Amino acid sequence: MGRIQLNRVAKSFGNVHVIPPLDLTIEDGEFTVFVGPSGCGKSTLLRLIAGLEDVSGGEVLIDGADATTIPPAKRGLAMVFQSYALYPHMSVRKNIAFPLKMAGLDKAEQERRVAQAAEVLNLTSYLDRRPGQLSGGQRQRVAIGRAIVREPQAFLFDEPLSNLDAALRVGMRLEISELHKRLKTTMIYVTHDQVEAMTMADKIVVLQAGRIEQVGSPLELYRRPCNTFVAGFIGSPK
Ligand code: ADP
Ligand code: MG
Repeated sequence: MGRIQLNRVAKSFGNVHVIPPLDLTIEDGEFTVFVGPSGCGKSTLLRLIAGLEDVSGGEVLIDGADATTIPPAKRGLAMVFQSYALYPHMSVRKNIAFPLKMAGLDKAEQERRVAQAAEVLNLTSYLDRRPGQLSGGQRQRVAIGRAIVREPQAFLFDEPLSNLDAALRVGMRLEISELHKRLKTTMIYVTHDQVEAMTMADKIVVLQAGRIEQVGSPLELYRRPCNTFVAGFIGSPK
């Protein structure tokens, strides 16, 4: 399960209205990409879903339950940041196990889940290294591993590939798409990169200045952009 609904969700910082009230439904198992120019509110929207920011209005429902009353750690959602959020002094094994240790899982269960995630992510032979001894792509996989072990209802990615070089980004894009196919878990992926959006998404949400301009499949947005902003952003011939 992992259906996420935003009902009239709004966010202001002081008297700056970053997100005007908006509605959005993300179906269970869908790969949804939030795309839009820098500063349009993508991260804020993701943080509202994750509970890392409080909504100024409206409600976030996860599988029908009002998430705004549930603390972030209990929402069943796992955020994946850029790989520099890893602990440099800890082994890969300890980095991946960290959320499980915090949640108080017993050692055997921690080890079982770490081994499973490492296998999925091709990290089994790197578990005793430290992040500094890994390539950029491997570090990013460790960051994803830390989310996988939590067995979340949904993954929330915030521009996870933006500090990788172009060639590595292409590979990691494919790996994340494969992971989605394998786990079939709801994923929300934030990027300002149109190519990432068009190649990875089941559904794209185009944002501008906190507003949703259009929601649709890559093909729908390409064929039928609803305005010149979407057309220009997606690169459609309108
Ligand atoms: P994006 O992720 O699309 O680049 P953000 O969600 O980070 O955009 O930011 C959207 C807007 O909200 C920006 O104008 C940003 O300056 C503002 N903003 C984000 N977080 C805060 C904050 N904690 N306090 C004040 N303004 C913020
Ligand atoms: Mg951002």
